[in-house]
Amino acid sequence: MTILEKCLYIVATPIGNLNDITFRAVEILKLVDIILCEDTRNSSHLLSHFQINNKKLMSYHKFNEKSRVENIKRLILEENKKIALVSDAGTPCISDPGRVLVNSLSQEGIKIVPVPGACAFVTFLSAIYKQDEAFVFLGFLPRTFEAQKKFLLKNSFNDIVFYESASRLIKTLNNIERIFGEDTFVSIGRELTKIYEEIKTDSIKNIIDFYQNNILKGEIVVVIYKNNSNNFALDLKLLSKIEQLKNKGFSKKDIVTILVTLYEFNKNEIYNKI
Ligand code: SAM
Repeated sequence: MTILEKCLYIVATPIGNLNDITFRAVEILKLVDIILCEDTRNSSHLLSHFQINNKKLMSYHKFNEKSRVENIKRLILEENKKIALVSDAGTPCISDPGRVLVNSLSQEGIKIVPVPGACAFVTFLSAIYKQDEAFVFLGFLPRTFEAQKKFLLKNSFNDIVFYESASRLIKTLNNIERIFGEDTFVSIGRELTKIYEEIKTDSIKNIIDFYQNNILKGEIVVVIYKNNSNNFALDLKLLSKIEQLKNKGFSKKDIVTILVTLYEFNKNEIYNKI
């Protein structure tokens, strides 16, 4: 593999499971001269796991992202250094430092080379119910109720995705209940790709009840299903029952018979869902 000169590599790293790193990411991290990292100690662990040793690491985080730009530009253009940017987890520039650098370098005509990989909200969306093809990702929400309300109501998408910390989740869910109503459904993706991965989809009321009575820690992605109709709850119930029966080894025909007989679901709808 050859590595390009006078460019910046934006390298995604895992969001939990280290096996999710790509072959290309490892090769590039091995070949560059300097790796810009949010937290050098954190990235050292990742690099040593992949036997990438003796690499020059330079801190690049939200508190120095502006002041570092000129120096990085000089290293690339004048010293011909090959440089990659990583963040603590996932894709740099996605709710992580990097935007200022990418904007500034690309304006100077420096090539930005994306090396794709894990991203928490994309990982989550790949595995859950979605009302539409289109959605909106909001990063982290502002903290206060009024600011959250303004931010959440600003868009017209039905599926709204955002990041939240475990310590703020209940408060934010209570705010969402006030804004969109108690019949709103949400989906919570916690500790994705890790040992205690958990995905929960339910009415906001049930989700709040659940997390008030169970330990809530770890990293979290939230999806709000705005404007969900009554059919939505039914849809989810049906899907979960189909899944349970499939896992028990029932045939398509048996699943339909069971669900029509016991739960009075519509026969054609069940066939469609299966
Ligand atoms: N750049 C990262 C990405 O590509 O997803 C996001 C960085 S942001 C600072 C960190 C937030 O992403 C966490 O607070 C959490 O909301 C979400 N996140 C990161 N890893 C996660 C995981 N394994 N499961 C669920 N959410 C995760």
